[in-house]
Amino acid sequence: MSIIKSTLHELQEGLTRGDVSATDIARAYFLRISVVEPKVKAYITLNEQEVILAEARALDEAMKSWRKTMPMMAMPIAVKDNICTKDMLTTGGSRILEGFIPPYNATVVDKLREQQCFLVGKTNLDEFAMGSSTEHSAFGPSRNPWKLDRVPGGSSGGSAAAVAADECVVALGSDTGGSIRQPAACCGVVGLKPTYGRVSRYGLLAFASSLDQIGPVTKDVRDAALMMNVLAGHDPHDATSADVPVPDFTRALKKKDVKKLKIGVPSEFFADGLDPEVHTAVREALAVLEELGGTQQELSLPHTGVAVATYYLVATAEASSNLARYDGVKYGFRTRECGDLMEMYQATRQEGFGAEVKRRVMLGTYALSSGYYDAYYAKAQAVRTLIRRDFERAFEAVDVLVMPTMPTTVFRLGEKIGDPLQMYLSDLYTVSASLAGVPAISVPCGFSRAGLPIGLQIVGRPFEEEMILRVARAYELATNWRRKRPLIR
Ligand code: GLN
Repeated sequence: MSIIKSTLHELQEGLTRGDVSATDIARAYFLRISVVEPKVKAYITLNEQEVILAEARALDEAMKSWRKTMPMMAMPIAVKDNICTKDMLTTGGSRILEGFIPPYNATVVDKLREQQCFLVGKTNLDEFAMGSSTEHSAFGPSRNPWKLDRVPGGSSGGSAAAVAADECVVALGSDTGGSIRQPAACCGVVGLKPTYGRVSRYGLLAFASSLDQIGPVTKDVRDAALMMNVLAGHDPHDATSADVPVPDFTRALKKKDVKKLKIGVPSEFFADGLDPEVHTAVREALAVLEELGGTQQELSLPHTGVAVATYYLVATAEASSNLARYDGVKYGFRTRECGDLMEMYQATRQEGFGAEVKRRVMLGTYALSSGYYDAYYAKAQAVRTLIRRDFERAFEAVDVLVMPTMPTTVFRLGEKIGDPLQMYLSDLYTVSASLAGVPAISVPCGFSRAGLPIGLQIVGRPFEEEMILRVARAYELATNWRRKRPLIR
């Protein structure tokens, strides 16, 4: 078996059967990284090879006397660099966290490490997860493994690029308005944003607290289900995490068809502005789902047109408040130009934050200021309720909603960086599910003429990740997109 080309479940099986050892896995991945990472630049920080090889040797030794039992054991996992890792640099893609080494693990990292996975490294992202291309990272952009002059999407672009380039077997991302699904679509991999509250955010650097979710980026849908089995669940450290039963997400995949499934097709997501190549690919995917026994129903999510505006008010307002903690006292970077305390705060934030973060802090502060609060923030909250109701109404009639993940095909580095509004519009199709708090998954559904991946988005009812996983898996098995891999050169 090819170690680096394997999915998580294939690699697990190989390890359990004894076809590969933990040391083989660790070696293969570090070799792969040494070859492709200089081109892809998926990581901000790589774990030390010696540390992982020592862990691998210990695991191999232990496995002589007992059979492998934990699903994540010896699995090379990458973690987005806005998720805290104990004793390992965590930057959030920002200069302002320079040298910040968390004294604790995020809950999701603890859960994976308890099963003795390998922590390969911390992946690149737009600063504080604000962006759609990784170009807003203080450490420079990552590249799309399918074409190195293209962006990998964002903000979890490093995680998606690392999975697509076989620099890890699975990765963690975070999604506030699309940051798992959109880069997954750009890189031809699977990305799942769980229901708000499904997965603990303890240890995630907060961007917009009413929207942020952690979720998996994987090579196939089965791997996403396996990851959800580990990640999901109530966490007393996260007051917003939901105390609901956690199913076995892989059980849902046993049914390989979607007979009697009612698929909603929201017309607003197929209107003007949708790239024709994306449109064709998604319509073809819908036809596949119909062949598998589903029925399509056109419907409307009438407030879709104001979702981006609503999102950028809610998200920036919350960001302006969350980012107030970076003051040069508590974490990371502090300016050298210190006058009095106020000047120190100002100079630290001036030097430590990039342009996009400053833009959002200003926009958010403005939206929350007295006199404008009712006109902007309160209004955005009211519209958010209307958006959520659109989904509730739709889900009375259908089981899932299907639409493109992104309105365009993958763009070039530099193409949108000078035009924030254009960049924001690449979130057009992902922010609605975020505002509604519902789960959504992106799976590969074809390629553009230029050879770049296209993503299909499947959205479900709250806490019905099993349903979207099942539909995504049925689609994935009926098509062969996941077999195509990028040739990095
Ligand atoms: N691209 C969106 C933004 O810039 C979403 C980011 C995210 O989901 N973290 O806010």
